[in-house]
Amino acid sequence: MKSIPQAQQEKFLKNIFMNKESHNIKSGTTIKNCQVCGNKDLMKIINLGDQPPCDSILEKKNQKEFKYPLNFLFCKNCFLGQIDFVVSPKKLFFKKYPYRSGITKTLVEKLYSTSEMAKKKIKITSNSLCVDIGSNDGTLLKGFKRFNFKVLGIEPTNIAKIANEDGIETIQSFFDIKTANKIYLTYGSARIVTATNVFAHVPDLSSLIEGIKIILEKKGVFISESHYLVDLIKTVQYDSIYHEHLKYYSLHSLIKLFKYYDLEVFDVEFIKNYGGSIRVYTASKGEYKIKKTVIECLKVEKNFFDNSNKKLNDFRKNIVRNKKEIIKTINQYKRKGKKVVGIGCPGRCSTFLNYCNITSKMMTYIAEQSTSLKLDKFLPGMKIPIVNEKIMFDEQPDLAIILSWHYQEEIIKILRKKGLKSKILIPLPELKIV
Ligand SMILES: [Zn+2]
Repeated sequence: MKSIPQAQQEKFLKNIFMNKESHNIKSGTTIKNCQVCGNKDLMKIINLGDQPPCDSILEKKNQKEFKYPLNFLFCKNCFLGQIDFVVSPKKLFFKKYPYRSGITKTLVEKLYSTSEMAKKKIKITSNSLCVDIGSNDGTLLKGFKRFNFKVLGIEPTNIAKIANEDGIETIQSFFDIKTANKIYLTYGSARIVTATNVFAHVPDLSSLIEGIKIILEKKGVFISESHYLVDLIKTVQYDSIYHEHLKYYSLHSLIKLFKYYDLEVFDVEFIKNYGGSIRVYTASKGEYKIKKTVIECLKVEKNFFDNSNKKLNDFRKNIVRNKKEIIKTINQYKRKGKKVVGIGCPGRCSTFLNYCNITSKMMTYIAEQSTSLKLDKFLPGMKIPIVNEKIMFDEQPDLAIILSWHYQEEIIKILRKKGLKSKILIPLPELKIV
């Protein structure tokens, strides 16, 4: 058998090394290479302008804030969507981070589905350990607890305290090799490790994945859920592009990523969370048989991205058109002296409102549930006040723009039941008033 020439081997090894290097990005820098495969030739899709981090809610209207570039790019080599600037995680997931998964009822149900599917697919012995990375208030782990799992959360923000008070043991920390070693020594190895909507947020992927390998049992399974790139493009979800969210995965890019670490994706599912997410089951190479779903999905994805130039150009055009239509509609209402407000303040609405340049003169306030940690604060950038939704029900404004539009059906039902009579504008994928 012919062996590979020395020079070619070295080039290959250098390539792999370089690529893995791109899994560890320094914060505060502009990224030039693909965050998964290291490809230098990234396709620029859209510039969403300089924006503040979407969850850096302002305590005071005149508070000083920082803005960073927000460009969306695409790698044709591994089908990864990505932004090209990394804000330090400490600036993004600061201790007072205001996002709680447990308060959105629909999200609670969706988070429970992770444990339900895991129970169906993975053999579990009594007292198996499940570790959730970026466990927030422990909602997902509560799902596993119902099935007699031992559970452990890892959460860097103060929300860890809420989880602990609620009976879900949680370590307040970022997850990396150091934390993984501590977990292994104290709690032993885990049957299941989960990371929902975390995997796209971490700049140091190699430390995260190596850490996961440290705590996983031999037949342990890592389940990750990430916003799905194909859905993002199809339904024009540019509002889900923000600094916390560095990568927008396809199955191709996930498989490629795990390969560097001898891990293998053996199953895939598509779920409705966050407007379309991909859930992949990953284990050490060869431990599980690769399911047909993986092969089928790869085919469908390949077809979708075969004509990526046109699809991505259309994506950009749709974003620009959406901005124009939104502004035109709000201005029509305002000219007649009518009141326009926002409903719900998910992180993603910051990108939407800042990119569309919707000021507090155009949108008087954003109405949030009374349990929200964002109440009486201001949206970063546009400085729109965030108020208790009770005010909106009292005032019945002329037009209310639903900002968690990806959960529109459930939310509209609840709002109508609570007595909201206002016209409701659904901004995406196409502007619609109901
Ligand atoms: Zn790539």
